[in-house]
Amino acid sequence: MAASQPPFELTVLGAGPAWSDRPGSSGAAYLVRAGDTAMLLDLGQGSFPRLAHAIEPSALDAVLISHLHPDHFIDLVPLRHYLAYQVKPPRSVRVVAPADLPSRLDALNDQPGFTATSLACEPYPSAFRVGELGVEARRITHTADSYAVRLARDGQPGLVYSGDCGVAGDLAPLIRPGDTLLVEVSFGVGPVPKGSGHLDAPAIAGLVTATRPGRVLLTHLQMGLDRVAPVRIVADAMIGPVSLVEPGDVIDLSRT
Ligand SMILES: [Zn+2]
Ligand SMILES: [Zn+2]
Repeated sequence: MAASQPPFELTVLGAGPAWSDRPGSSGAAYLVRAGDTAMLLDLGQGSFPRLAHAIEPSALDAVLISHLHPDHFIDLVPLRHYLAYQVKPPRSVRVVAPADLPSRLDALNDQPGFTATSLACEPYPSAFRVGELGVEARRITHTADSYAVRLARDGQPGLVYSGDCGVAGDLAPLIRPGDTLLVEVSFGVGPVPKGSGHLDAPAIAGLVTATRPGRVLLTHLQMGLDRVAPVRIVADAMIGPVSLVEPGDVIDLSRT
């Protein structure tokens, strides 16, 4: 019998939209582990305590920030403080992010060099490695500098994360058949207001029909919207499973 592979799994730390009125709902944050590799996708409001509960934060191999809306990066501030003041000796973590990230964080604290103390920021290459995982990044329609990513072990099904995305077709070049697609569904059953830069379930249904991921994980649904109907709409276009993720969900990415 073949030796079993070390796990490749996603832990949902936060799946909230830009604001939340639900206790327990925190900003976008997704922990991906592949063997000894640990990577975080986004770190939105309120999700740092969940990160610290799930993993020693200084052990992260990298943090990827999809774009510079606060619901995707603002808890880098407590991560920075933790790495600077609680970890002995202080450590630095690699952060791949839009190029303006250091100046945004420095301005929040009105302190030049605030970010560089503990966060080693670099702009997105189109392809790079983080430990066991190869990463492809692709600029997508949302802010002027927003990215979707695909993470995978070489030649195996991977995880595609949309960040926030205004055009579903922008994600298509990243998706291989059998991948897990973690995708925002901000406007639920829709429609998406013109120019808002987000997706709804009908747009995702069209995307999965064209690209055939093995599983779809919906996230970032706005407050007060139906939480069942968007899943049904996407599931009607899929053979594999579809769910709306919640904090605490753990998904085995090596199987669908
Ligand atoms: Zn967002
Ligand atoms: Zn956004």
